[in-house]
Amino acid sequence: MAEKEKTFEEITTHLQTQGFVYPGSEIYGGLANSWDYGPLGALLKNHVKDLWLRHFVRGIEYNVQIDPAIIMNPKVWEATGHVANFHDPLVDCKYCHARYRADQIIHQQKPDLDVDGMTQDQLNTIMQSGEIVCPSCGHKEFTPIRQFQMMFKTFIGVTEDKQSEVYLRPETAQGIFINFKNVLRTTRRKLPIGICDIGKSFRNEITPGNFTFRTREFEQMEIEFFFKPGEDDKWFAFYKDNCKAFVEKLGLKDANVRFRDHEPAELAFYSKATTDIEYLFPTIGWGELMGIACRGDYDLGRHMKYSSQDLTYLDPEDNTRYIPHVVEPSFGLDRLMLALCCDAYDVEELTTKDGKKDSRVVMHFAPELAPYTIAVMPLSNKLNDKAKAVYDSLHEDFDAIFDTTGSIGKRYRREDAIGTPLCITYDFDSDNDGAVTVRERDSMTQERVKISELSNYIHSFLGKNRVK
Ligand code: ATP
Repeated sequence: MAEKEKTFEEITTHLQTQGFVYPGSEIYGGLANSWDYGPLGALLKNHVKDLWLRHFVRGIEYNVQIDPAIIMNPKVWEATGHVANFHDPLVDCKYCHARYRADQIIHQQKPDLDVDGMTQDQLNTIMQSGEIVCPSCGHKEFTPIRQFQMMFKTFIGVTEDKQSEVYLRPETAQGIFINFKNVLRTTRRKLPIGICDIGKSFRNEITPGNFTFRTREFEQMEIEFFFKPGEDDKWFAFYKDNCKAFVEKLGLKDANVRFRDHEPAELAFYSKATTDIEYLFPTIGWGELMGIACRGDYDLGRHMKYSSQDLTYLDPEDNTRYIPHVVEPSFGLDRLMLALCCDAYDVEELTTKDGKKDSRVVMHFAPELAPYTIAVMPLSNKLNDKAKAVYDSLHEDFDAIFDTTGSIGKRYRREDAIGTPLCITYDFDSDNDGAVTVRERDSMTQERVKISELSNYIHSFLGKNRVK
């Protein structure tokens, strides 16, 4: 079976046609770069979150999960520096008024330059040098860089004034830092401790795009892992290994994943080391999926200063008091899902039994991540009720779909296209042998399984296909 070269556009079209993702606010003409997850996308999302929780929360003895608020006291963002510094360098083309992030457009046209370490003046000099071309009209004149605040502002209560101004969080991490003391006190744990959170974040990105890769509303899965200063290298290595193991569990192809250590000039001044995991997206190239950063005591130190609360830790081992250091592994859920879909998508050329050429679109998701684990189908409409009884016995335990329309061949193709690993067909022999045909997505092999054994069979199939 040969694999056709795939494009980003073909895959994202497939995701929309099948119901993984819909354009946001579609009946009102849409809202630029906003996307809604449909039933398949929502299921896939649940499964990726479940895997993350299993791997990082239940799987690491030091870790607990919390669920802090999206809207926090605005002082949080003063403390972190977001109010002062969470800006993007914005430029407009003087001719067509297309808007760009200066660092991104320079990076695209001069990939050898290290834009991440540059000051605004340096970026400005390059933008005004006449060497950067507007991708939309070809002119070379841009407005000077303006800093664009990326946090979404809103108001609480009835008055819309400075006093009631609040922000939608641009990252989930700060809800963790501000609860560090609460978690330690109520869990009665000692260091090291990891506090994990999954939730929405909001950034008013200047250049959203590439489907769900960069949006203004997205979901993050973040951990702040607190430990004794001096243990930074140990825990950074621990999380690098664990993030690698997590990516292996997702089933992404090795050749499409790389770890990229940040150069010293790219590092935030408080960070000792940062590594990104990047994915090779079709057509658009390498893109960041997540980052693991050594953040020292920067965040807790800043919150101590701005809140005037004592956030130090008294170490019962040696009676010393210190501000814990942290390592932060931060995954973007939407980007992970997009990478999973790109990796799973395949168009396979097949030869049928009678020698004819055929092809199928198939999403090779790891079985436990696939939106639906099983599809139950009657061979003929005459068997609908009996097949439905099989479906009814399984769909509380497994994500399942019941499909009665079209030929069995068509139904198999439909399930392949959304990645369902097992199709279960109730046929005319089922009444006699109390068994059904189970067809596996990737190998397309079929076997007869007793209806009474189906639940065990599916559990053991999932277990066998799980990367440990
Ligand atoms: P980028 O350089 O792509 O803007 P970042 O370095 O600012 O990303 P972080 O602040 O480290 O991103 O956030 C952690 C993760 O959250 C990223 O690796 C990414 O997966 C996800 N993420 C960040 N911004 C967005 C966005 N606008 N849309 C979707 N996911 C995002």
